Formats: sequence, C-alpha cells, structure tokens
Amino acid sequence: MAEDLLPDATGIARAAALLRAGALVALPSETVYGLAADATQDSAVAAIYTAKGRPDFNPLIVHLPDLDSAMAIADFPGTARALADAFWPGPLTLVLPLKPGHGLSARVTAGHATVAIRLPAHPVMQAVLQAAARPIAAPSANPSGKISATTAAHVRAGLGGRIAAILDGGPTPVGVESTILAPSADGTRLLREGAIPREVITPITGPLITDTTPGARVEAPGQLASHYAPLTPLHLGGTAQPGEIIIGFGPMACALNLSENCDLVEAATRLFAMLHQADAMAQSHGAPAIRVAPIPEMGLGRAINDRLRRAAAPRA
Ligand code: AMP
Ligand code: MG
Repeated sequence: MAEDLLPDATGIARAAALLRAGALVALPSETVYGLAADATQDSAVAAIYTAKGRPDFNPLIVHLPDLDSAMAIADFPGTARALADAFWPGPLTLVLPLKPGHGLSARVTAGHATVAIRLPAHPVMQAVLQAAARPIAAPSANPSGKISATTAAHVRAGLGGRIAAILDGGPTPVGVESTILAPSADGTRLLREGAIPREVITPITGPLITDTTPGARVEAPGQLASHYAPLTPLHLGGTAQPGEIIIGFGPMACALNLSENCDLVEAATRLFAMLHQADAMAQSHGAPAIRVAPIPEMGLGRAINDRLRRAAAPRA
C-alpha cells in the first residue's frame, strides 16, 4: 500500500527522493491530485501509464518550478509568453514546440514534437518540484477514464495499491483540471476547458480557435467522449426519475448540492468529490442513476459542463 506523507519538510523531502529514484508519488496541486514521476526517466514515465491504465498515445503534462526551466525545454510562440506571464504559476497548461536537448523521456510527449507544460501554484507541489530538481510528469491521480481525485482519500481508493506514496496536502482548492492552450504564430487553440475561464484568456489571446481540425488535437481520453465516469450512469438536466441520486445547483432541496448560491467557483471545488459521493451512494442504495442539475455555460461552468458531459457520455 502507498506510504502516507505529510505536507511538511520530511514529507516533501521523501516525495522528492522517491521521484528521483523513479517511483510514483501522488501530489496535491491547485487543480486535482497529480500522479507524479520523473519526466526524464523512461521507466518512471512508463509506470504512470501502467498504474493508471492510460493508453500510451495520450501525452502527459510536465510540471516545472519556474519559467527559466520551461524556456530551457520549449519555444514560446505567439501569445505563449504573455500567457505565461499572466497565469503562471497557476492552472494553465501550454502545449509548446520542444527544443532540442530537452532531456524528457519520449514517452512523456507520446512522440510528439510538442510538450504540455505547467507551473503549478500549489505550495506543496512547488516545494516538491524544487526539491526534486527535475521536470515532473503528472496526469490526474485516478485510474484512466474515472472520476478525478481532489483528496488523498480519493487517490488511495483509486490507486493506493499501485503507487509508492501519497502526499496529503488536503482537498485541492480549484477542483477542476488546468485549461490547455496551444499558442502559435497563427493564433491560440483551446485544447481543453479548465480552471482558467475563456473570459480571462481572450483579452490576451484574442478569439480562441476551438475547432477540431484533423491533426490539430491529440486524440486522448481527456478529450474523448467518455471520461471522468462514475460507475453509475449519469444524466444531465431533464426530469428526475424515482430512486435517482440528485446533485443540485442553486436553491433546491437535495442532499448533494454543488452550490446553493449558484457560485461556479464553489461548484468546481465540490464537483469531483460530489461525483465520488453520489456514485458511492448510488452503488450502496442500488440507485439507477445520478442526475445533475443544469450548470450555466459561462466562466468555470464551461469546465464543469465539459467534465459532466464526458461523465455522462456512453461508455466505450
Ligand atoms: P491529464 O491526463 O488530466 O493530465 O490531461 C493531460 C492532457 O494534456 C491530455 O488530454 C493530453 O491530451 C494533453 N496533452 C499533453 N501533451 C500534449 C501535447 N503535446 N499536445 C496536445 N495535448 C497534449
Ligand atoms: Mg485526467
């Protein structure tokens, strides 16, 4: 079973030592828990794919402590530098052209000429990145295709038997994954809705390119129809049927509510924990389905709806 680490100097040093030795460690970030490995070691990166059951064509996000380390491994075309200045450290991932001599395992990028990079803002994650002193690959710390983990307990339930350690930094503050952008000289492509809403990005980038031109998108579970899926079927909106577990939004009488005040930030923070909770309730009561009230398609609501649509999609 995974070792339990605390977010203190001992826990941080232990996490860094395990990572340098090629082991897998779950780390808190501001978005969701990440399943971290040394991005320069082929075998460590391969272990991420095995532990998650993740298809190996789905590239990983590389986490770095500072802009200098990012500029050492990638070029910053188009609006990339302005985006980095505005949102790093923070929940924004940039897909950028790799520089020669980048030193990353080819498995991290799934053989692409680009790399996805993020500078996280979570102090515990930052401390581990500093101590490990190497680029850290970290997808979300959940079995592939399942609900993301926003607490150490979620990580333990999903992956506890398959990883070396879990560093418990408490519940993750933002609760949904990073926004992924691919800036280029021709404009900025939105690859994944996430923690930074479009409304605060477009003043920097101008209109975002959101089409799915063949080749422009990496086909990956995070971008495929079914993802973030509970065991129980999930429906969005519509009329509640007898026995269903309801997740509300706004003033409504139900046991689980993403935000009684219609606060999308609060709803994002609670989203995955409530999906885990609703799924456990549905499984123990034999409920036929989970039904989630409609969420407005604005601000963080776009990222929430993206997750919910994929959670509701027919399973492969
Ligand atoms: P996660 O599994 O939640 O960490 O999400 C990582 C996401 O980043 C996946 O959906 C990948 O497709 C995306 N990604 C990582 N590297 C690249 C890349 N080089 N080009 C496009 N998307 C990428
Ligand atoms: Mg994920």
